[in-house]
Amino acid sequence: MNDASDLLRTYVSALPALWIADTARHLVAAALMAAIVAVFWRAGLAARKLQARHATGRDIRREILALLRSSLVFSLLAAGVVVAAVQGWFTIYWGFGRAGPLYLVLSLVLVAHDTWFYWTHRAMHHPHLFAVFHRAHHLSRTPTAWAAYSFSVPEAIVQGAFVPLFLVFMPMHEIALLLFLVVQIGRNVMGHCGVEVHPAAFGPGRWLAWNTTTTHHDLHHETGRTNYGLYFHWWDKMMGTEHPDYRRRFEAIGQPLSA
Ligand SMILES: [Zn+2]
Ligand SMILES: [Zn+2]
Repeated sequence: MNDASDLLRTYVSALPALWIADTARHLVAAALMAAIVAVFWRAGLAARKLQARHATGRDIRREILALLRSSLVFSLLAAGVVVAAVQGWFTIYWGFGRAGPLYLVLSLVLVAHDTWFYWTHRAMHHPHLFAVFHRAHHLSRTPTAWAAYSFSVPEAIVQGAFVPLFLVFMPMHEIALLLFLVVQIGRNVMGHCGVEVHPAAFGPGRWLAWNTTTTHHDLHHETGRTNYGLYFHWWDKMMGTEHPDYRRRFEAIGQPLSA
């Protein structure tokens, strides 16, 4: 079935479920993270707040609206992925006959996505691109969990283009794809939640330091122009773009904030 109307029918029939699932995934993850911050605020998270400034109700409303808009853009792209998979242009496989590569694909996809994110993110900070692509995300100077997918439409397209591009080169197991989507939103809401939720072992110089932390991405929102990475600190280390104060800021968690 290569007829254009068949392709369109597949696209249109896949879209509603993908839209609902993507919107729900983003809303549930952000709401869960916001609830964790609220519930454990007095139990210790208040002392781990990263900025003296508080996000306003207006900030949060803008972030939620942009998250909903990004969910729509992502599902429009995901419906295209379904068409490509049905046509056999992409391989999204199921079953455990090929389970061996599952772990490999999952680890590869995270490293590849981190690379995609780092370089597109740096490019979007270029003065010629910033206003169109990335300014909307940086309206959140003091981000909250709701800012995870607070993107302009052009930035949402850049972010959403990663999975289709990856699938051009690599077959993916359905579970790897699902886990990737879960890890992606999970790490994103953790990075934006405004309080450091990673234990000390993730801090610079410690054994899990190769992962980014909330402090890492929060500093990016607060100051811009450093800490472009998403999951890992490798690219920032290699390219000399880690915030010079990152270590001190991470180690100062729990101490009183100055305005
Ligand atoms: Zn940025
Ligand atoms: Zn951000």
